[in-house]
Amino acid sequence: MKKFKLLTLFLLIYLTNAAQTYYSPEEIPDPKEYGDGFVSDPDGFISSTDEDYLNDIIKNIQEEKGFEVAVVVVNSIDNKAVLPFATDLGNLWGVGKGDRGIVILAAISDRNLAIATGYETEQFIPDLVTQEIQQEEIIPYFKLEDYGQGLITGLEVIEAIVLGEDVPDYVEEAQQKQKNVKIWEYIAMGVGGLLILLTILVSPKLKTVITNAIILVAAVVVSLIAYFVFLKESYTASVIFDGSVILGFIAIAVNAFIVVKNETSAIWPYAVLISCVVGVPLTGLYLYGYTAIVFFYLSGAGIIFGMFLLTYLITLFQKDPYHKFHTIKVFKLDVFAYVFPFPMYVVDLFVENQLESWRNRVRYSKKTGLEMHKLDEEKDNKYLEKGQVAEEKVKSVDYDVWVSGEPEDILILKYTTWFSKYSTCSKCKYKTWYLVYDKTISAATYSSSGTGEKKRACSHCGHQRITRYTIPRKTPPSSSSSSSGGYSSSSSSGGSWGGGSFGGGGSSSSW
Ligand SMILES: [Zn+2]
Repeated sequence: MKKFKLLTLFLLIYLTNAAQTYYSPEEIPDPKEYGDGFVSDPDGFISSTDEDYLNDIIKNIQEEKGFEVAVVVVNSIDNKAVLPFATDLGNLWGVGKGDRGIVILAAISDRNLAIATGYETEQFIPDLVTQEIQQEEIIPYFKLEDYGQGLITGLEVIEAIVLGEDVPDYVEEAQQKQKNVKIWEYIAMGVGGLLILLTILVSPKLKTVITNAIILVAAVVVSLIAYFVFLKESYTASVIFDGSVILGFIAIAVNAFIVVKNETSAIWPYAVLISCVVGVPLTGLYLYGYTAIVFFYLSGAGIIFGMFLLTYLITLFQKDPYHKFHTIKVFKLDVFAYVFPFPMYVVDLFVENQLESWRNRVRYSKKTGLEMHKLDEEKDNKYLEKGQVAEEKVKSVDYDVWVSGEPEDILILKYTTWFSKYSTCSKCKYKTWYLVYDKTISAATYSSSGTGEKKRACSHCGHQRITRYTIPRKTPPSSSSSSSGGYSSSSSSGGSWGGGSFGGGGSSSSW
């Protein structure tokens, strides 16, 4: 009999405490339904003394400044992302009058904690500050399993902040840091805005304006997708959105320079501007704490730029401009300028000028020592073989023909085009071999493989080859369910909470 009683007791504890899991904000008991307290502690982690004290603090800041705080301590929310859960809860209950709401949510077994802030609260208690309060005040007590004391200490700091009393140093530091981040955002946007204006002034084409608008919208859309699909668990919406706007402006700025570049060839203004365009957001990212991104960018740009300097050094020891040209040619690849606009965009402009000058520099014949001159594209054809003319025609190779006036004193220099669709023909050896078509003869199904056909031909000698290949059997799609990450912001002002709404402000921690 005694054994049975004990078992019942354990079972009761197990059921009412350890096993409780709340899968949605709707399942959390609303304290306003039972009285006028602000604390929901259905699994009994906080003593009634601590709960009374928490209610006193909240009542005080509510009467003084209109802030409303919901303190929710539960056993588990099934390890769900705690900040979005707290945000949804704040919206569901409508915590805070005039969006001055705060939800502190602790899921004890999950070891997760979040402070979610309403729209207006964010201005008083920025995300960085909520993070510091968790780390400095609440979590040390949570580690000792003194949940009531942790929440009281944290709430006392919140009280000091909203009442304008003395706050710990780390709060002031975090507030200053958040202000710095804001200032850098404005500077980045200002520089981006000026550049857009500059582009429009220099190149008042509708196409430019539309391209820039598309880039900005694309950056925001990509970031929002990234946020809802991948990052919702770790970052708040505002951080992601700010980041996307800054990235969008970088993209616009790079695009703007590509447009402006075509109108003039001066390099130094771009050097100054591009370093601002990249430097400002990099500094912003650094202040935001994204030091890894900044480090990655600087080390990548440094390595590429170092390689360029070494290569340029080699050209100083080369006599023939033709050799110099081919040594440094690789840095004309636009991809470097796209990935590391600073400094590679400037390098790109510099290399372009160098290549142009090396290719056209006056030459002296090695045979006769006479000054030579370059023939134009029409005249040079009679010195070229038919295959070379065919290559020039399909633009896979460009030939410069230099003559001195003496018969037989001719120099032919070859400039191969990168990323040409033409390759070398196995028969005539000219770069005139290309893919004519690639078509499906019979399509692959889930039960059988298919057949494709490719035709390649030479536009010079007419040599051609038709090959057939197998298209592998299709694999049936796996039935992986996609989780929808919808943000329910139903602000039904139930109970007697103030009716505030939350937009994802705040932060979360684990211990
Ligand atoms: Zn051929």
